[in-house]
Amino acid sequence: MPGLVVIGAQWGDEGKGKVTDLLAERADAVVRFQGGNNAGHTIIRDGETFKLHLMPSGILHRGTLCVIGNGVVIDPGVLTEEMEELRRRGVDIGGLRISANAHLIMPYHLLLDHAGEAKLGKLEIGTTRRGIGPCYADKAARLGIRVQDLLDEKILKKKIAAALYPKQLSLRPFAKDPRLDLQSMTEEYLVYGHRLEQYIADTSKLAWELLDAGRSVLFEGAQGALLDIDHGTYPFVTSSNPVAGAACVGAGVGPGDIHDIWGVAKAYVTRVGAGPLPTEVDDELADELRTAGGEFGTTTGRARRVGWLDLVALRYAARLNTMTALAITKLDVLSGQDKVLVCTRYRGTDDAEFDHFPYHQSVLHHARGEYEELPGWTEDLGDCRTESDLPTAAREYLTYISEFVGVPIALVGVGPGRDEVIWAGGDVHRAAA
Ligand code: GDP
Repeated sequence: MPGLVVIGAQWGDEGKGKVTDLLAERADAVVRFQGGNNAGHTIIRDGETFKLHLMPSGILHRGTLCVIGNGVVIDPGVLTEEMEELRRRGVDIGGLRISANAHLIMPYHLLLDHAGEAKLGKLEIGTTRRGIGPCYADKAARLGIRVQDLLDEKILKKKIAAALYPKQLSLRPFAKDPRLDLQSMTEEYLVYGHRLEQYIADTSKLAWELLDAGRSVLFEGAQGALLDIDHGTYPFVTSSNPVAGAACVGAGVGPGDIHDIWGVAKAYVTRVGAGPLPTEVDDELADELRTAGGEFGTTTGRARRVGWLDLVALRYAARLNTMTALAITKLDVLSGQDKVLVCTRYRGTDDAEFDHFPYHQSVLHHARGEYEELPGWTEDLGDCRTESDLPTAAREYLTYISEFVGVPIALVGVGPGRDEVIWAGGDVHRAAA
């Protein structure tokens, strides 16, 4: 597969963790290319649950090089804790490499995130308040602290002082917060530097060496295409680019290094926090799907918004990312519905119908899904391992999706466990294998 990108094709939480984990088995390296510890992958292995926030999913495979790329923003406190926890559970993390160019989340980023959301009140974006947006903002303002800065006390202190200065006004309410003391912050981050030093590397070069030798590198995205800061439902988006194109920027490789692009989508949709969701349902069906799919935030426990599969949005994501394959997860969650609906077009305010994802925020905010009804199925899918094990209606559902979006389905999820999948035949899967 030499260069394969896996991205979320919806609003995040699609089950990328499991798909990436399965693909990582065949990869020589896994590189995360954007986001921070606002992402949380859940991987279930031999009955054990691993929640990864910053670690690339390949970390559970011995011998796989696991890279945190330059496009990721790192909270070193969270990373060192995650490393410790994995070590405690007997996972070998010797394959971890951290880009020297990745930016660091600093204590003031967390405070600014809290303050920013509080100030927006009802208009809040619904960020995870982990400092990720403010960290990317500092990166763009050329005030960021990078991983490599951790290794030089003088430079680190100078850069922190320079980054703090322009924020003094907004940080005034926290003037007495001990986390903002320049000296202790510098010391705290130097300690992180010592702990991380052996893992810091020129990670682009590591990826090039593998790619040039014809080895396989998996680029792992966080969140989803519709949360992309440029192409998603702005401003209700994340502060980075989860689209496949960003794999090049966030890992330091070229477009020619990417050969396959997998989009992961649930068999329905969910969204956390505010922003448009044209196919949202808000009745008993919502509760049913939420319960069957365990659609509650991993860290907050917040109920996720749910809806029917939005094929208009999925087709948009497929084109935006030039997807070569789709992985459809959580098909099992739809079992027991008499009929399954798929959104094939939107209806706007003045009754206008359209079949494309609108670029204009106001149009999108008022768009409501129009549906095709397909027959449902009652069977439990947990034991299906091949396409022919699936009930006819479930197979037809998948065919409808694939034909509408114009992308072959390579993998279908029928349960949370790592073996609860169907590898659908098809060229892409064969190429990957
Ligand atoms: P990610 O951030 O995209 O990796 O998504 P998460 O890992 O946070 O959320 C996906 C959740 O769905 C996890 O709890 C997975 O164990 C679970 N999951 C993944 N695939 C399937 C599936 O096919 N069926 C069911 N029922 N659960 C799944």
